[in-house]
Amino acid sequence: MNVVSTRGGGPVALSAAIASGQAPDGGLFMPPEVPRFAAPWTESGDTLGERAVALLRPFFAGDALAAELDAIVRDSLTFDAPTRWFAGEPDTALLELFHGPTAAFKDFGARFLAACLQRLFRPDRAHTVLVATSGDTGAAVAAAFWRRPDVRVVVLYPDGRVSPRQAHQLGAFGENVHTFCVAGAFDDCQAMVKQAFADRALSERHGLVSANSISLGRLLPQMTYYAHASLTAVRAGRARPNFVVPTGNLGNAFACLMAREAGLPIGDVVLATNQNRVLPDFLASGEYRPQPSVATLANAMDVGAPSNLERLRHRFAAPAAAVRADWVDDETIRSTIRDTYERHGVAVCPHTACGLAVRHRLRANGAQGDWIVAATAHPAKFETVVEPLIGRALTPPQALAEILARPAHAAPLQPTLAALADALQ
Ligand SMILES: *Cc1c(COP(=O)(O)O)cnc(C)c1O
Repeated sequence: MNVVSTRGGGPVALSAAIASGQAPDGGLFMPPEVPRFAAPWTESGDTLGERAVALLRPFFAGDALAAELDAIVRDSLTFDAPTRWFAGEPDTALLELFHGPTAAFKDFGARFLAACLQRLFRPDRAHTVLVATSGDTGAAVAAAFWRRPDVRVVVLYPDGRVSPRQAHQLGAFGENVHTFCVAGAFDDCQAMVKQAFADRALSERHGLVSANSISLGRLLPQMTYYAHASLTAVRAGRARPNFVVPTGNLGNAFACLMAREAGLPIGDVVLATNQNRVLPDFLASGEYRPQPSVATLANAMDVGAPSNLERLRHRFAAPAAAVRADWVDDETIRSTIRDTYERHGVAVCPHTACGLAVRHRLRANGAQGDWIVAATAHPAKFETVVEPLIGRALTPPQALAEILARPAHAAPLQPTLAALADALQ
């Protein structure tokens, strides 16, 4: 399929859009319409992989990567996304998106994108994947490209704004992965990356490739676990589930909205943000007022200018009719982590806690039906927040433990394009 830019440019082939990340007119690539799945969903298989291929096939129709889709899914979606309903709260579930190598949902998008890019790279050219991260993206992208020949990964993260384990993980790859801690906030890192791509000469010289959350190559695979979760729920005899998605840059949640547009049995979609409440305020007032981000316990959602908002406004004439949003302060994050552990014996990460807090507010306000909360990271990644609240140590999943066992190194970097250009040498 050909895709278009939110700012009117295009059309370009899907694989060209995946290779370039951002549209040349500065917009974000979008499918002109979301293909509705024609065959009955019940015939699409039972596994995440089978459903992913069925869902994504029409997007890839006629594309250079069409014949590779099965292999791309097989290479990248190698772990499951189980939905776990709470025994003591049977209308609420967690969609566990943290079973990939870096224990956050970013693994789905990063690995799928890497599998696409690897098939699109020109063998005679240098490639540098440049990525700004609020904590989890950088590690997922680094893990996806680690030790791949002819690809360098450059990761920028905001110094002091990621959890100690996230910082260790970001610096633990080495070899073809170069990690920098930037004296600034995530928004500074994102701005530096944007400026680097806008600098033609710099971008050409290093063969810069984008892997940020605006990439269609990350958005499309994120639809697949919403397809999988909603179909699994309906197959088990439930009515179409509603979703709460912890949100920062709006990538994960926008994929959920796209899955619903594809015709999947998804009811309401509600965004949960932390104190960076630009999205709830936008949906309530209709006015978009980007803010400097503030640091919260759910640091991967500390975003003051959500990059995928442009997609929401492009797709929906009335965004507030398509999606709702609420926000949560740090004290509520703490109490939700504590309560979820006391009531259910389940430890959740601070981002997932935002989602659960919003789900409980929805119930208090009379919401009916089944609700699935996206559990965006494993709690052991945020142990300095979670462990004191639940009073016990958390065991990192094995893949994460292996990365954490390696020594880590990140070089300090000033938050300027000049400093980044130097570092890229
Ligand atoms: C990135 C991230 C989020 C926010 O996802 P967006 O796609 O930016 O909205 C939430 N939770 C965790 C753990 C993350 O890593």
